[in-house]
Amino acid sequence: MTPNDLRAKVLSVKRWSRADQRAPNKPLMMAYALANYIKGHGQMFSYEDEVDKDLHLLLKRFGPSRKIVHPEYPFWRLINDGFWRLDNAEECLPRKSNTDPPKSELIKYGVTGGFNDEAYQLLKSDTQFAMDLLQTILSESFPESIIPEITAQLGLEFTFRQVQKREPNFRREVLNAYNGKCAICGFDARLNDELFALEAAHIKWKQFNGPCSVNNGLALCSIHHKALDKGAITITSDMHVKVASSVNGGGIVESLIWDYADKKIHQPRQSNQYPLVQYFDWHDENVFRG
Ligand SMILES: [Zn+2]
Repeated sequence: MTPNDLRAKVLSVKRWSRADQRAPNKPLMMAYALANYIKGHGQMFSYEDEVDKDLHLLLKRFGPSRKIVHPEYPFWRLINDGFWRLDNAEECLPRKSNTDPPKSELIKYGVTGGFNDEAYQLLKSDTQFAMDLLQTILSESFPESIIPEITAQLGLEFTFRQVQKREPNFRREVLNAYNGKCAICGFDARLNDELFALEAAHIKWKQFNGPCSVNNGLALCSIHHKALDKGAITITSDMHVKVASSVNGGGIVESLIWDYADKKIHQPRQSNQYPLVQYFDWHDENVFRG
């Protein structure tokens, strides 16, 4: 196996690269393993002592809002992707409804998992390759604004070099459509006539085929962009701000977030530039943590 072979296998992981719905289970499992290799962890991870708790936390924080998360799914299912290894898995019995074992079996038999021998040797002998692969996985799954939080949660203290392609047209068109103001709060600060802290946000993430078009964009200040990408807020189909009930903080949070709850956003002047309901629906279903 060459680094390119492994990279290709990782990029073709099922239910990830082409899926429209957010399914971050496998990307976060792989990112967890890679980050730990970079920090010096050995090849295999104990389901019971490590993955069950650590991946649960990652899925809760960075996955779609779900009552129950299943760290056991990607831990087990990556075996089908050609670079993952499971030990002590032979005797695990499947659940009635599936071919996967329940997590109780993984714990009972002390199952461990990790990249297979060939892949592990490649990653271990070339930390830069491991970091590049980690960056690829995260940037294919999450918007830029979220990635530093994930790497911090993974215990890594470096920032990735910027490799994502910028879309100057998208930014310009979106900011123009909204007249250079945050669609939520109207923020429009300029320094020497140049806007700052005003950004063009994708409603449906481009990682999930959200287009770089004005109808999938919102001009937002940095705070409201981050709140949108984190799922702290979403926009309803009739263009009102909805705030996740779990958002809390002091008075400044009241005025920056809660004061806009149920308020209508500022729309572009031209109706053909309005954001489309289908993208808000995607955001509500896959990102909003309401
Ligand atoms: Zn704003």
